[in-house]
Amino acid sequence: MKRILLIGENISRSLSPAMHNGALEYLGLSGEFRYELMPVAPGNFDAEIKKILAAGDVLGFNVTAPYKCEIIKYLDGTDQFVQKCGACNYVKKENGRWFGKNTDGYGFVMPLAKMGLGTSSKKITVMGAGGAARAVVLQLINNGAASITLINRCPEKAAALKSHICAASGFNPEKFIIYSYLELQNDKFSSIMVASDIIVNATSADTGENRLPVLFNAEMFNKNQIIYDLSYIHKTGDDLEDSAKKASAVYIDGKEMLMYQGLVSFVQWTSKKPPTWLLRKIVGEELSTLD
Ligand code: NAP
Repeated sequence: MKRILLIGENISRSLSPAMHNGALEYLGLSGEFRYELMPVAPGNFDAEIKKILAAGDVLGFNVTAPYKCEIIKYLDGTDQFVQKCGACNYVKKENGRWFGKNTDGYGFVMPLAKMGLGTSSKKITVMGAGGAARAVVLQLINNGAASITLINRCPEKAAALKSHICAASGFNPEKFIIYSYLELQNDKFSSIMVASDIIVNATSADTGENRLPVLFNAEMFNKNQIIYDLSYIHKTGDDLEDSAKKASAVYIDGKEMLMYQGLVSFVQWTSKKPPTWLLRKIVGEELSTLD
């Protein structure tokens, strides 16, 4: 039995085990592979990751917050996408070497592609500068983004993302503007929203105590825009979703991204492809059980 792990900090509500184990069962592979949660506290990461890499029964793993950047230095190699964005969420042991890739960028664009929505030459605003934002920004640059405006709470993290990705991808730094929320008066924030073709929420903010420090309203959006929230858990009283829908903008949440990033990870670990309807069904069922 080979184990495939999800390594992250707060992962008890993750849908990945249900999605991967359901797909393994459907394909008759549940005797060969099992997908398991591996919660790791930040102070233990170094020791835990070394144990995992030394374990003979681990085939590979997904990595989630807050370790998508930190994991890279423990691996024997990574693909170009990981090198350029500085974040890795997929690892497999190949010929005795731990090799990392990133499936978030692919997962992010697939729903757009399926809807026939192009991102080339678009003015894009991304909120957040964590592991997911890194993959999304690089993917959008690879797909021909005209400009990136990145807003993040911690300015140093935004600056690090910008300098790494511009240097690695050759994207013009003058077309990559960063702000912290503190710099944005309400009218400035509104004008950034109005001027964007695509707005991505890549933060882990919710609608409770950990809210975004900005408020959205329908006047900021219009029917030609795409508002994409990477979160897949429904947030009651979500002013981003409510405003986007009220303005008839295209609104996309993170469910399909979750499904596609999981699909491409699964195929690379097992060389077998589960049907997308199955993964979509499992994600829907699991979400309905979360409060
Ligand atoms: P991460 O590395 O922990 O980054 C979190 C980001 O959110 C940071 O930029 C952080 O800002 C920002 N943030 C958190 N709370 C905030 C608040 N109250 N106000 C403003 N900014 C706040 O996490 P991640 O891996 O990038 O994931 C980000 C989100 O994307 C999560 O919701 C995750 O579930 C989702 N995601 C979805 C998929 C999918 O398949 N659908 C895949 C990956 C990620 P600071 O830098 O200032 O701390």
